[in-house]
Order: sequence, then structure tokens, then C-alpha cells
Amino acid sequence: MQGDTLFISDLHLCESRPNITSVFLVWLAEVAAQADALYILGDFFEYWAGDDAMQDDFHRPILHALHQLTQQNTQVYLMHGNRDFLIREAFSQATGVQLIADPLLTVMHGQRILLTHGDALCTDDVSYIAFREQVRQPAWQSTFLSQSLAERKAFIAQARARSEVEKSQKESMIMDVNADAVAQLVREHDFPPVLIHGHTHRPDRHAFNVDGHACERWVLGDWYEQGSYLKMDNRGHLVAETIPT
Ligand code: MN
Repeated sequence: MQGDTLFISDLHLCESRPNITSVFLVWLAEVAAQADALYILGDFFEYWAGDDAMQDDFHRPILHALHQLTQQNTQVYLMHGNRDFLIREAFSQATGVQLIADPLLTVMHGQRILLTHGDALCTDDVSYIAFREQVRQPAWQSTFLSQSLAERKAFIAQARARSEVEKSQKESMIMDVNADAVAQLVREHDFPPVLIHGHTHRPDRHAFNVDGHACERWVLGDWYEQGSYLKMDNRGHLVAETIPT
């Protein structure tokens, strides 16, 4: 019999919030290990400076746990978020986690499902979209990755501090998805009935229509105050679940 498929995003795992890492590792062993598949839809890590950071003391137990999971019967897929888009093949090799494109159209239980991190849908945030275009260019990334790990971490620390200041000044509407961008994405993929994304930290289920086609947009929650995941059960039904911490 087919088992569950789980979706998570926006854990923002980092050294400064060790509690969430513990909650995640327990959840991985107890819940995710029972599932057929786990989709991590971006911002798994608060930041990722490059795959040479895999040896950091903070990262090693997380990578080890992912590897254990993929060695059992759970397929694990990872999509880049805006924080961890430098995760590459070495990470995949070490963990058995399969990197997937953003967006990804897949079929589950005979139903088409569109997956995306969600940052590309926040088109009202013009300065962010410009930044995104810059850092997603292969040339920018290879220049960045040619620096030492210490230099990259210093750059990221500055960018994170800047982003915190900017976020506090931006209106909250600007940091949500743009309805036209959502409609366009759905249209480009020939109207899948389900869209799942994270990034906005506004977990919810929105029913809407694009050109007369019904679509449900499921927004995943972050892991700041509690753990949060979406479960597709063996009948293809989606249920949002939280994990108290
Ligand atoms: Mn994000």
C-alpha cells in the first residue's frame, strides 16, 4: 500500500535555534521515516554558504539524519529556497537527497501538483526580485563560491543583517505572493488543481480560480514557534499538521 508524502519548508535551521533542530531530528526519525517521500521546499537552512560547509559541527548531525532516512524507505527531495540555493551535488551525494527544480510539476495519486518555494511569486517586492535575479546567475554563483568559506560567511552575515532591517521597513503586503504572479505560474503549467509553496510564513489554504480552472494554494508554515508540515495521505488528501515544541 502506498504511504504518506510529506511537505515541509522554512525550517531555517541554524545554530542559534538549537531547539528547532532537535524537534526536526525527532520528527524525521518518528514521522518522516514512516512516509514514502519527503519534499523539502526550500529554506531548510537559515543560510548555506556552499557545500564545503557540510563539515560544520552544526550541519553534520542533520546531514547524517537525512542520510539515514534516505537509506531506509523514504525518498527525500529538496528544492532551493532563497536562503539555501547554494546547496549542490556534493550535499546530494552525502545525504541521498535528490535536488529538484523550482518550480516542479509532479503527479501524485493521479493529480497534478505544482511545487515551488514561493519567493519568485513575491513580485511586489521589486528590490528582492532584482537581488534574486542577480544571485541566481551561474556567473555570480561561481564568483561567490571561489571565495573562502570564511569570506562567504561574512558576506552572508552582512546580507542577513541588511535583510532584517529591510524586512522591518517593508509593508507586510509586499512580502506576500502577488495574485497575478500566482495565476501566471498556474497558467504556465496548464492549470494544476493544487499548488504548494512556502516562503511567506503564512500557512493557509486558499481556493481560487484561474481562467475558470479551480486551484487550491496550500502555504506551508515555518518552524519558528512550532514544527509544521503538510501530509498527503494514501488517498491523496492533504492535511496540515503542526508539531508542538
Ligand atoms: Mn524563503
